[in-house]
Amino acid sequence: MLNHTFAQADPQVYQIMEQELERQRSTLMLIPSENYASRAVMSAMGSIFTNKYAEGYPGARYYNGCENYDQLENLAIERAKELFHCEHVNVQVHTGSQANMAAYYAMLKLGDKILAMSVDQGGHLTHGKKQNFSGQFYEPHFYSVDPETHLIDYDQVLEKAKEVRPQLIVAGASAYPRIIDFQIFREIADEVGAYLMADIAHIVGLVAAGSHPDPVPYCDLVTSTTHKTLRGPRGAIIMCKQEWAERVDQGVFPGVQAGPLMQIVAAKAVCFKEAQSFGFREYQRQIIRNCQALGQSLIEEGFEPVTGGTDNHLLLIDLSNKNITGQEAADLLEAAGMVCNKNLIPYDKRSPTETSGIRPGTPALTTRGMREEQMYQIGKWMAEVIHHGRDTQATMPFDAVDRASADGNSHKGRGEESLISRIRGEVADLCAQFPIYLDLDD
Ligand SMILES: *Cc1c(COP(=O)(O)O)cnc(C)c1O
Repeated sequence: MLNHTFAQADPQVYQIMEQELERQRSTLMLIPSENYASRAVMSAMGSIFTNKYAEGYPGARYYNGCENYDQLENLAIERAKELFHCEHVNVQVHTGSQANMAAYYAMLKLGDKILAMSVDQGGHLTHGKKQNFSGQFYEPHFYSVDPETHLIDYDQVLEKAKEVRPQLIVAGASAYPRIIDFQIFREIADEVGAYLMADIAHIVGLVAAGSHPDPVPYCDLVTSTTHKTLRGPRGAIIMCKQEWAERVDQGVFPGVQAGPLMQIVAAKAVCFKEAQSFGFREYQRQIIRNCQALGQSLIEEGFEPVTGGTDNHLLLIDLSNKNITGQEAADLLEAAGMVCNKNLIPYDKRSPTETSGIRPGTPALTTRGMREEQMYQIGKWMAEVIHHGRDTQATMPFDAVDRASADGNSHKGRGEESLISRIRGEVADLCAQFPIYLDLDD
């Protein structure tokens, strides 16, 4: 049993994975928080490091037999410290949300005030949304973006900070297409005596590569995921100055976690090494160029990106003048092989389930090797689908479209190809030119 292959041991799950591989191969991954991890990262995640408890930290474990785990975790820590030029890093934290939970736990008392960007303007649910622990255990207050420019209004952040007197200010977002000025945030935090935390879950790869200003010198704590632009395993880290080290480590374990996922720590070590390469810096620069090219292509087709464009890996496209919701647009795009997510835009008049925006991004497409030329083409396809996709049979999910066409059942009639299935075919051809994972088992 121990030595059965995956396919032998569980053909059902294996088959679902094969389907998923086909989906990842033949569609465009436009969700800016997603990426393709390298084979080395995935091998580490699926390795024998999963077999051991290593509660505690290197040199101070609660279980025997951890000598290799100490070596492994120290290596991950050293690489992360080098990559981010930080004094201390915790590499055990399981997810971005848990990183924020552990960070708050390290810095705050129950009921303390947090000032962060609200979720409906681009913040994350762990920044004080009322259905999240962060909105229940702490007292959330929010700053917003300028109603005209949709940029962070630092004067308003300062005003809010003076009014609220928060213990903690959080800088960072999930849907903000522009540079964040951590230095100004530091000045604001100092002015009101607050701690400053940056949550760079989205932009971490850009930061590591020097393509976005570095928060580390200005912040008490910096939290991040490792699976988004950093292109590592699904997981997270917390960076801080030495004076915070003990509280952060205690915040993670025993604060909010027990046994670390050491196979994920191994994969983080691999991803930090990858991120130190010259190729990675070039990759991050190309993500931005690609995103700007995609934005340009969409602007030419009459779309309005929030803030007029992007400095980073994502665009927030305002559909409020298009007579289509973000949900409808994302469904049409998916039917055409472009997997994108709906997103609220600042001051959105629609609900979070409908939304007036989509949030396309380029980290995964750039990993595939696509460049400006392909982005330009993808922008044209997106425009065609959003503008005209509903005129055809396209409101059906794509497999229903395929079935309907195969049956000759569609109202467009046999032989007549819908716009959606034509574009889906063109997308698949493009994907075939930029292959990912050649097979599952090598
Ligand atoms: C993605 C994200 C997180 C949470 O990451 P999970 O690993 O999904 O818990 C936290 N903060 C921000 C800003 C994010 O974008």
